[in-house]
This record gives sequence, structure tokens and C-alpha cells, in this order.
Amino acid sequence: MDLMEFQAKTVFAKHGVRTTVGAVVTTPEEARAAAEKIGGRVVVKAQVKTGGRGKAGGVKLASSPDEAEEKAREILGLDIKGHVVKILNIVPAAAIAEEYYFSFLVDRANRNYLCIASAAGGMEIEEIAHTDPDAIAQISIDPAKGVDDALAREIAVAAKYPADVIDAVVPEIVKLYDVFIAEDASLVEVNPLVKLEDGNVEALDGKVTLDENADFRHPEHAEFEDVSAADPLEAAAKAKGLNYVKLDGSVGIIGNGAGLVMSTLDVVAYAGAEFGGQKPANFLDIGGGASAEVMANGLEIIISDPQVQSVFVNVFGGITACDAVANGIVQAFELLASRGEAVNKPLVVRLDGNNAEEGRRILDEAGLAGLERVDTMDGAAKRAAELAAK
Ligand code: GDP
Ligand code: MN
Repeated sequence: MDLMEFQAKTVFAKHGVRTTVGAVVTTPEEARAAAEKIGGRVVVKAQVKTGGRGKAGGVKLASSPDEAEEKAREILGLDIKGHVVKILNIVPAAAIAEEYYFSFLVDRANRNYLCIASAAGGMEIEEIAHTDPDAIAQISIDPAKGVDDALAREIAVAAKYPADVIDAVVPEIVKLYDVFIAEDASLVEVNPLVKLEDGNVEALDGKVTLDENADFRHPEHAEFEDVSAADPLEAAAKAKGLNYVKLDGSVGIIGNGAGLVMSTLDVVAYAGAEFGGQKPANFLDIGGGASAEVMANGLEIIISDPQVQSVFVNVFGGITACDAVANGIVQAFELLASRGEAVNKPLVVRLDGNNAEEGRRILDEAGLAGLERVDTMDGAAKRAAELAAK
């Protein structure tokens, strides 16, 4: 999960990194009030999960509350690389003497952590990497040893940070490493890390990516989730613990195993071409132990998608045999009926693999309304696409 700048700075501050969180606002009037409260010159900053806001006109200096309101009005609604600005951060304008680049990240290729630092900051680091690669220091970090004052000092020297900031920058580097480790981040980037005119060093910008695999030990990270940006169906699916991705088409897909579901998407798109370009409406992997409840939850999400015209349940019995899945489907119909959400869209079910015969028998005997059984993947995909087109 990527954090917005103000969230990243909140996390920095929690670990004692020198930074200014400022005020978070969503209207020009609030921007004015925040500027009044801060007093003096402020910077109005777009909060979007992408870099290069400055270049795109999303970071503007304002000398008065009036001007802060005006700049806020200009920035709100701005489209920055496909991200529409809805939130602003109002911070006191910093008196910047110099701008540097600093980051910690996971170096997957070397199965290690990496620190990238440069005295040439402010600009996009990719650009510096092209024009002046020698200006960038790359220091691999041994996770078992971490970053102490001595290593932080080595990093600062390798980055060619000026001698007069080294003492101020060392503790900030150590605290940024704390952020990286304690928050289970895969990226902590500060661009620019600035030297202020008073000689202090501060994180003026912050980009943090949190590793969602570690969410279980960070209940406090839930506050960073941007529920408004997520697709409502995806949010509902996530709340139910389902592995669901919303797509554009009309054929709802349920399968067991990510690989099977991926190939089901392809087969449906291929078959759908014949029926006016019907496409898959979603990715949903109900996994190995598909219980009736998981099946019911999955069906519930899919049929509540207004774009869905038909549903293709594609199951290959492996660890979970087809009879168990068939019973799961029958019970899911009952469960949904009891929730007042009866299955009102045609369903095509293909069962193959372990206990396929038994599974098919169970479905035939249940005689569920709107459910058709087709025993080949291609045939079932074609039928589901045909039903969607009707
Ligand atoms: P980015 O463009 O998305 O990386 O946004 P930044 O937060 O890095 O801001 C872009 C640039 O705006 C920085 O490199 C600074 O030069 C400038 N800037 C941002 N905040 C301030 C501030 O408080 N004071 C001054 N003087 N300049 C600022
Ligand atoms: Mn920046």
C-alpha cells in the first residue's frame, strides 16, 4: 500500500524523524483557515499517490491566507498523472538551503535492503541516474546488522552530502531506517531531504510503501486505507477475505486456483468475441477449501455487480473434490436465498477433476433454477458468453 505524503510524514514523525506534518484539508476555505492558523507563508501541496507533483503544478507557495485559498482552488481537482487531487496538505513554507535525495528499499534481485542517496535531490532520481550516475550512492544494507550511527555516517559521506550537514543528517538516517523496519515498509523515500537555512535537516517530502503481507501486525495501518478510492465491490470482497479483482466485462467468474482463474479469463474473452465482445467481469479465486460460505460470499459479490449478465463457475477438483464444491454451490444458493439475495443471473458450472461425476450428479439432482452444467471449459465459457449476450 502506497501512502500519501502527509501519511508518510505522520509515520516519520512517529519515529522521531524531523518533518512537518501540517494540516490536511479538502476545500479552499479549509486551506485558508489552515494558512491563517499557521501564519506566514505556507506551501499548498496536492496529496496524490504519485510523484512529480511539483512539476505538475500540485505544489504551490502562498504568502497569505487569501493566496492559500486561491492556490487550493487551483490545485483541487487537478489531474496529476491520472490521480485527481481531493486532499491538500498545508505546511509552513520551509526556508530551504539545499535539497538532497534519500531512500531505503527492498532490493529483490540481491535479496537485501538497499539505500540510495544523493546530494543531488529535489529532481526525479531516475533523471539524475541518467545524467549523472556517479552522483548517486547505492549502499546495500545487511538486514541482520541494520543501520547504526557509523553506517549512517558512511552513507552520508558516500552520498556526498556536504560536511556541514553530516552531523545533522546521521540521526535522521538512523530514524528513517527505524521507519523502514518497524513499519514493514518496502520503500521509504525522502525527496527532498532538505538542509534548512538554520542548519537543521528535515524530510520535506515522503513516499512510503507498506508491505501488505505484514498488515496482520499493523492494525494501525488500517487508517491509511483509502476506502473512497477503492472499487466498492473490491472493498466488499476484501472485507469478506475474497481474492477478487473487478474487471470491465459482463461474465462473472468464479474459479479455484489463481492459475485456473487466469486461464478462465482468457477463455471467456476468446469465446466472448463471437457474442459481441463479451468479456470477463472479474477475477475471483475461491482457493482450495471452497466452503459453501466462501462460494456464497463469492456469488453474492458477483451477482451484485450490475454489469454481470451471467456467471461462469469453473472448478477443477484437486485437494477440494468436485462433490464438496457441488454441495457448496447448492448450500450457497440456500444461504443466499435466506439472505434475500437469490441468484437471479444464469449460472454455468463446469466441474472436472476429482469426484467430477459425483459433483455433477449432486448439481443435477438439486435442479437449481438458472444453473446449467457444461462439462468442458471451452464449452462452458462459450455458453456463459452466449447467456451474457442475451
Ligand atoms: P513532488 O514534486 O511530488 O516530489 O513534491 P515535493 O514535496 O518534493 O515538492 C516539490 C518541490 O517543491 C520541492 O523539491 C521543493 O523545491 C519545493 N517545496 C516543497 N515544499 C516547500 C517548502 O516548504 N518551501 C520551499 N521553499 N519549497 C518547497
Ligand atoms: Mn518530492
